[in-house]
Amino acid sequence: MQLSSSTFPAPISYHHLMRLMLIAIVFALFPALGQGATDQHSATIEAMGGIPINISAWGMTTQEFDSSVEAISQRIEYLESILSPYRPDSAVAALNRGEIPDQLAPEITRLVDVARHVSDETAGTFDITVMPLVQLWKRCKEAGRLPTSTDLSEAASRTNWTAITVEEGVLRIEQEGLMLDFGGIAKGYFADEAVALLRSAGATRCLVDVGGDIATWQALPIAKPFRIGIRDPFGSSSIFATLSIDEGAVVTSGDYERFYTIEGKQYCHIIDPRTGWPVEGMHSVTLLAPTGVEADALATAVFVLGATGGRDFVETHPSVEAIIVSDKSDGGVEVYISPGLIDAVQLVTPD
Ligand code: ADP
Ligand code: MG
Repeated sequence: MQLSSSTFPAPISYHHLMRLMLIAIVFALFPALGQGATDQHSATIEAMGGIPINISAWGMTTQEFDSSVEAISQRIEYLESILSPYRPDSAVAALNRGEIPDQLAPEITRLVDVARHVSDETAGTFDITVMPLVQLWKRCKEAGRLPTSTDLSEAASRTNWTAITVEEGVLRIEQEGLMLDFGGIAKGYFADEAVALLRSAGATRCLVDVGGDIATWQALPIAKPFRIGIRDPFGSSSIFATLSIDEGAVVTSGDYERFYTIEGKQYCHIIDPRTGWPVEGMHSVTLLAPTGVEADALATAVFVLGATGGRDFVETHPSVEAIIVSDKSDGGVEVYISPGLIDAVQLVTPD
């Protein structure tokens, strides 16, 4: 990823930023707006119960593009059929019931490997065994009450990323009763898979957006950067900045789309596995990494690490950049833009 690393006077005040926005410029997170490409093909398909997947590619014939879209659709359907913990016949559902199949799909081992790597790197703030806590908070939402400390410790006793390892391609689950949930990593992985299919079918440039998780690629020399809108966590579908990248993946984890309301207070769907509680004080983390699968997992991890921990993480990992929108301790909201993004981020200002 070609991102420069100069310093930026960050964090800037969110309210200052918002004053710059007299008009919220609304556009879907769809590729190539204003990029002037003549041979662009685009299509939208749906997966995972209605999540839109926007696919754009250049350098292909219509026929090549159409068959790639079909291949992407089939690939994602296959991946969902093995990965979804909610489909009783999936391999992951079987693993979660304690059944170890004779042959495990290599995609599962690979995803666990990436997840484990991210957990190691982020002190377990990304945890694919977090499902008991996610389910506890869902039950609490339905019951309209907060969990008791007994509820929390019971769910926490079944959450343990250190017990899941991959050694020489073999998955080991070293604690009974653990459950795998790829919800925090799957969309980025699907975006990578779609990009790989487009590349192998001859695309010279492509961008795939799986429900807001974006993976891109383009052949050298770089024709034009991709311009990606960053959702304003406080506006229904407005963007507060655009980001230009030559390649790589951009994923946003936010508190604005999925949350629980319990006893009148909103709790977000990302859980801190270290405490068992939903993360507070964070609004969105937009994370850049070389691949979608890493960006997706790391966006969740940085969200859990919080404004300060997240900033430290990003600044000590050269292949990672981020935009973090969080509450300030003294009230108000701040936007942190990592130093390497100074030339890549444009705030949305009125025409
Ligand atoms: P989104 O699905 O909104 O893009 P994320 O990629 O951050 O958001 O994934 C959130 C999902 O991941 C949750 O719905 C839950 O299933 C799971 N999850 C929640 N907290 C964690 C965590 N700390 N580590 C890994 N997965 C998590
Ligand atoms: Mg994620």
